[in-house]
Amino acid sequence: MTIRKLPALLVNQIAAGEVIDRPASVVKELVENSLDAGATQIDVLIEDGGRRLMRVRDNGTGIAVDELTLAVAPHATSKLDTPEQLGAIQTLGFRGEALASIASVSRLRVTSRPTIAGSPSAAAAVIEASGDDVSEPSPRAAAPGTVIEVRDLFFNTPARRKFMRASGTEFGHIHDMVTRMAMVHHGVSFTLTHGSRKVLELSLTDEPRQRCIQLLGQELEEALLEFQSPPSRGAEERGVDEALVPTEQRSVWGLAGLPSIARATTKFQTLCLNGRPIRDRSLSHAVKEAYRGLIAPDRHPVVVVFLEMDPHLVDLNVHPTKAEVRFRDPNQAHGLVLTSLRQRLLGADLTPTVRVPDANSSSRQGTGFTQNAATHPAPEHRTLAGTDGFVDHFGRTDPVQKGFQYQQVRAKLTQQDAHVDGQPERQTPPLSEQAPHVQPPPSMRTTNPLGANVLQVHNSYIVSEDDQGIVIVDQHALHERVMFEELRSRVMGGDRKLQSQRLLMPIIIDATPKHQALVQELAPLLERLGIEAVPAGPKAIGIQSFPTFLFDRKVDPGSFTTDLLDRVEAGDVATATPTDSATLETVLHEVLDMMACKAAVRAGDRMTPEELEALLAKREQVERSSSCPHGRPTSIRLSLRELEKQFKRT
Ligand code: ADP
Ligand code: MG
Repeated sequence: MTIRKLPALLVNQIAAGEVIDRPASVVKELVENSLDAGATQIDVLIEDGGRRLMRVRDNGTGIAVDELTLAVAPHATSKLDTPEQLGAIQTLGFRGEALASIASVSRLRVTSRPTIAGSPSAAAAVIEASGDDVSEPSPRAAAPGTVIEVRDLFFNTPARRKFMRASGTEFGHIHDMVTRMAMVHHGVSFTLTHGSRKVLELSLTDEPRQRCIQLLGQELEEALLEFQSPPSRGAEERGVDEALVPTEQRSVWGLAGLPSIARATTKFQTLCLNGRPIRDRSLSHAVKEAYRGLIAPDRHPVVVVFLEMDPHLVDLNVHPTKAEVRFRDPNQAHGLVLTSLRQRLLGADLTPTVRVPDANSSSRQGTGFTQNAATHPAPEHRTLAGTDGFVDHFGRTDPVQKGFQYQQVRAKLTQQDAHVDGQPERQTPPLSEQAPHVQPPPSMRTTNPLGANVLQVHNSYIVSEDDQGIVIVDQHALHERVMFEELRSRVMGGDRKLQSQRLLMPIIIDATPKHQALVQELAPLLERLGIEAVPAGPKAIGIQSFPTFLFDRKVDPGSFTTDLLDRVEAGDVATATPTDSATLETVLHEVLDMMACKAAVRAGDRMTPEELEALLAKREQVERSSSCPHGRPTSIRLSLRELEKQFKRT
């Protein structure tokens, strides 16, 4: 084939391939343009998940009539002049590519009325561009500012069109994107509307904290600690290199969620650099590191980090959508975030280590965004048994929290727990600590049906013997495997589904639009697992049925469902079309694994001799009992031979 120059349309479509991969990326580019134009009000309207229409209206500086044609032309920008400027970008956009790219794969219309020195000039005009066609600008009556409409996205690129997901899913991405932009730009009012439904309405504020809380949820207010860069040291105290860059040129401010509101995925972590939400592995690592030892390794803190830096210290021109950046000194950015965050957390008296481990703590930790979970150590007892009174408390909590309270009531009632009728404050002990053997003497041994000695040590490991030596079992890992196998045989075997418990009153949980869409998409799968959940109102999901066995194991339906949806969304659990049986099998595997993990006895749970025996007996019965469903070992053995060697008996 001979070499030819590509036609302009193809060049633009190729460029669009990098920048515009789904409706949310169009919205991102348009909102960035509005922000660059100094808008204080941005209204986003979406129809059919962005397929039919995406419209962004702003009250920014506008575009002069004679510049409209240039605005939609490739490599045309008002934001960059000289190569020097590329080294210190101050605006969100600078590539001059977005509008041209969008036009090459959709029907674009730009209507604008420029403001000159704050007052609207007379001329407003409209221009249309689609594929190769660009219309002449024509006069049009319009309010000051700019309206950009994008219709029929990917109408001329079928390959891309095929990759678009259901309307609810695409809208979910748009919602996330607008949320992230709004989080960073608290001085701008935003609305986001899907069809006739207004999903976001944020009025401008001078308080970044207020905007974050508006978006993360008012109920989190008390669970978010504010943190900032440590006070800058004098130049003489700093090293020579450091002294070259005054600390004023970089600073950090943010909100750090308490460990109790940690989530199953990193979705509730927002990293921002100079007004731009970014992804950065090194900064994510700094966040994880700051929380090390404070939360379980598989949980992720709710965190918002705003980093401000001299633009010379970062290169923004490394990623087509500018989602990733390059720091001139990555260690410095990492260190700044780690130190500020850690100092705040360590100074905050979180004391998770002194809490007595119990079966409830796991479900409470996962309860997600409830104020109770964050601020009151034992809400169930305070409200059920304390002078507060159950009814009184119920009346005061908001509807979102009722589900949580209700679950506790349900758990109490179904377990005929002795504390319901007003016992003193005390956590429900795991399994059956009310049995007479509350404190077995340290030397106590018991015998399992196989005739071996059994001992639970540190409430975490079971030590036993077999004919080859000493066997040490990780109680959680083994129990997880046992539960997993039992669940699996029920779902895959004759029953085909898990037995579930219908709730008298649905449990209402907070939900993003994407979670709502997922719940509908996954309904057949969830049904098999004994979970019935439906969207309830604009920002919530109602759980109507929940697997009986999870109830019995005190797993909180609200946090379980939230975790499940978080994980599906993050891709940790692949979604399946029910026709594809291989995928269905994987999904079931993953979800059952999650259930088993939540329901299994924890390290730290005391077990009665009967429970120890029962669990060890299962070890002989279930498949794959030597490893837990994640592949970690459930038991290790110390052979007699090894013992003899160690004691020098041979
Ligand atoms: P870039 O943002 O990289 O400059 P775009 O293709 O996104 O490139 O936009 C091209 C130009 O159109 C911008 O430089 C800006 O001058 C103008 N423009 C686009 N959107 C707006 C808007 N909402 N308000 C004012 N000007 C705009
Ligand atoms: Mg732009």
